[in-house]
Amino acid sequence: MSRVYNFSAGPAVLPEDVLKTAGEEILDWHGSGMSVMEMSHRGKEFIGIAAEAEADLRELLKIPDNYKVLFLQGGATGQFAAVPMNLLRGKTSADYVHTGQWAKKAIAEAKKYCAVNVAASSEDESFTYAPPMDTWQLSKDAAYVHYTANETIGGVEYHWVPETGGVPLACDMSSDFLSRPVDVSKFGVIYAGAQKNVAPAGLTIVIVREDLMGDPIPCTPTLFCYKTQAENDSMYNTPPCWTIYVAGLVFKRLKKLGGLAEMEKVNIRKSQALYDLIDASALYRSPVRKSDRSRMNIPFTLARDGLDEQFLKEAKENGLIQLKGHRSVGGMRASLYNAMPEAAVKALCDFMRDFEKRNG
Ligand SMILES: *Cc1c(COP(=O)(O)O)cnc(C)c1O
Repeated sequence: MSRVYNFSAGPAVLPEDVLKTAGEEILDWHGSGMSVMEMSHRGKEFIGIAAEAEADLRELLKIPDNYKVLFLQGGATGQFAAVPMNLLRGKTSADYVHTGQWAKKAIAEAKKYCAVNVAASSEDESFTYAPPMDTWQLSKDAAYVHYTANETIGGVEYHWVPETGGVPLACDMSSDFLSRPVDVSKFGVIYAGAQKNVAPAGLTIVIVREDLMGDPIPCTPTLFCYKTQAENDSMYNTPPCWTIYVAGLVFKRLKKLGGLAEMEKVNIRKSQALYDLIDASALYRSPVRKSDRSRMNIPFTLARDGLDEQFLKEAKENGLIQLKGHRSVGGMRASLYNAMPEAAVKALCDFMRDFEKRNG
């Protein structure tokens, strides 16, 4: 068996030790004689697995007691609808910050439920930066303010938390969730699809302040009703059991590494190695403003035309795969999620230096 270094933006690389544990336990979880995939979600085994995953996540993020943790389905895309449905609470408008493809989709979905005020946008520079706080034009009557912590396609990440003067802050944290410590108390709701930085696809994690979740708009599907899901420990219907289990293994691994502050240090080291190479190079270029560069998703272009295919082909021959940029941006993109080993980043950097020497 040989494993490649997989730089996919999602579904993405998972920690090898987690995959091994999941493999070892696949036929018989802890002497139960069953796979987690075969268990009733109402049985004591699975209820224990889910409770432990939640407790570990709470510990990692230091989630305050007045926040609920929900393990849902429907992806971040489902939350694009669930956020307005739950957070409007009688109001008719919300503020959104437009920073690229994912913000755009969140805005389009929210418009089905309320008036959207685009409080700030980086469209003027092709979505290559995070609009500074002093440019945000927040409206007085907004039910909440929504932003995208990390634009997975554009590679733009906020390295600060917006200040909204008491208006609940809603954040799509899909692609940098658990990559660094976060002060949860500054948020009304945080949501993240698991398949970028946490687990296989199928799980959406929602962290929501209790006082915001009691008054969903009447047509809210029960599945997306935060309050109902909270009252039922996210088991109003069958939850994504297997994915919750793997997420739990990933939480344990993060705890063992020393928590999110330690994880952040590694993520800074990994991304800095690649950005340093790009900035020192005449062949590679990052389109993103330095202060807002993502540690998770790093797009870059090649200065010489016609080299992209050759770059990807040779990278693949070196066991470095999924480096093609999103079709909307072009060029390359390397996703360096938590599970990406430092050795993979070194292998990528070595390959890129060598490729430039031969083609620069
Ligand atoms: C991947 C992604 C989404 C969409 O997630 P789904 O689980 O496919 O719905 C939304 N926002 C961001 C920032 C993403 O990276």
